[in-house]
Amino acid sequence: MPLIEVKNLEKVFYTDGVQTRALNKISLIIEEGEFVAIMGPSGSGKSTLLHILGFLDRQTSGQYLFEGKSFEDYTEKELAKIRNQKIGFVFQAFFLLPRLNVLENVKMPLIYSPIPEAQHDNLAKQVIATVGLSHRMFQDSSRLSGGEKQRVAIARALVNNPKVIFADEPTGNLDSKSGETIIEILKNLNEKRGHTIILITHEPKIAERAKRIVQIKDGRIDSDKYLKKS
Ligand code: ADP
Repeated sequence: MPLIEVKNLEKVFYTDGVQTRALNKISLIIEEGEFVAIMGPSGSGKSTLLHILGFLDRQTSGQYLFEGKSFEDYTEKELAKIRNQKIGFVFQAFFLLPRLNVLENVKMPLIYSPIPEAQHDNLAKQVIATVGLSHRMFQDSSRLSGGEKQRVAIARALVNNPKVIFADEPTGNLDSKSGETIIEILKNLNEKRGHTIILITHEPKIAERAKRIVQIKDGRIDSDKYLKKS
């Protein structure tokens, strides 16, 4: 069973009487362990697709199956569990809580998990080490560089050990060197720890680091290529 299966997915937005077809019959299968880059011009539907895949939004029509089941098959409780424990999100704008330090930010998602509180510090410290920020553990998150903030956001996405990490332009606000560090961390999470990574980017150099590139144009899949890795 694929991790993610999308069939004839459509999303139509209605704003002030104007209809926008953001996704137009998208069909796509993503297996567990893949590292997929989604590329395409601005306004082509990439974020809309990622939001539906992450259960942040719902399609207008068509089917979306996560682990073989669709939105309607899950109870509210199961959906909350999927969002909290099976899916991690990383956004271009980081979305850290500014008055909290690195450790406190990374521990946040554990509040809603069944993991006993006594283990939260250790789990958070482990993922902070994974992103190379142990030396910043107690620093206020507003006093970090952009690259460091994104590493905290990745650690926070990782703390519940999710199956899949959705990253929406995670390098979009960063200089190329920090962007490179972020992509290297995501690549390692995929290769060494088996996390499925689905990454939106408009930078070809970033997309080439993935194992597969899906190009979206006008809400449709324009091409879908697996990259040969040496
Ligand atoms: P991308 O991520 O590729 O830049 P989006 O998925 O954000 O593209 O947007 C796809 C299309 O849907 C665009 O035309 C955009 O204006 C429209 N759109 C996205 N979100 C909304 C919304 N909440 N309401 C109305 N239109 C939207």
